[in-house]
Amino acid sequence: MSDKAVLSCRNLGKAYEEGPESVVVLSNLELELHAGERVAIVGTSGSGKSTLLNLLGGLDTPSQGSVWLAGEQLSALNERDRGLLRNRALGFVYQFHHLLAEFTALENVCMPLLIGRTPIPEARQRATELLERVGLGHRLAHKPAELSGGERQRVAIARALVNRPGLVMLDEPTGNLDQHTAQGIQDLMLELSRSLRTAFLVVTHDPNLARQMDRVLKLDGGRLVPL
Ligand code: ADP
Ligand code: MG
Repeated sequence: MSDKAVLSCRNLGKAYEEGPESVVVLSNLELELHAGERVAIVGTSGSGKSTLLNLLGGLDTPSQGSVWLAGEQLSALNERDRGLLRNRALGFVYQFHHLLAEFTALENVCMPLLIGRTPIPEARQRATELLERVGLGHRLAHKPAELSGGERQRVAIARALVNRPGLVMLDEPTGNLDQHTAQGIQDLMLELSRSLRTAFLVVTHDPNLARQMDRVLKLDGGRLVPL
């Protein structure tokens, strides 16, 4: 593993126990992602894409192999330190926004900063700036239910980026949006990854989005193969 990698894994494997059976989803999977690099992962439904992102993000534990995030081996950290590392080094965007319903757009975007103990006035300022940048300066006080699907994904993207992580993982971020809205989100993601030099690892079914990444990898038979 080189020092420049924001994310890497070696010999990664995951099997689920289904009664007496063991279902192998990933095996001997290797990946190395460099600073600022943008990679798309494609693959049929059920091929293990979400499982892979969860393992790489430390949200799930591999059956085999190791993951390094920002130079730290995840399995060597306890739960608390893994959480702190995730907060500092990684942003996550899901197909369904996973915003906190009781909180405003501004509060949702502040959350990772407050968890990282940024003082409240600074957190509010940085979150406001980023929401303005994603075109939502006029929606700061809206709760998720008061926003459109595209606006919610913009909030989720702002939340993922607010701590300036080296890497953002996105699991079908445009999968739940109409084509026009998806295009807007796509353009925004590309612009932000370029200007902030954040590495992006995006799972997508959208060939148009995949094509605009630096590399496209297909998850097939439990491994990643270049396309
Ligand atoms: P994808 O995101 O590519 O559609 P997933 O990673 O969600 O695929 O799932 C990969 C495979 O692992 C599927 O066959 C799924 O049924 C199985 N799987 C996912 N999560 C679990 C789980 N918690 N327990 C058992 N099997 C699971
Ligand atoms: Mg999935």
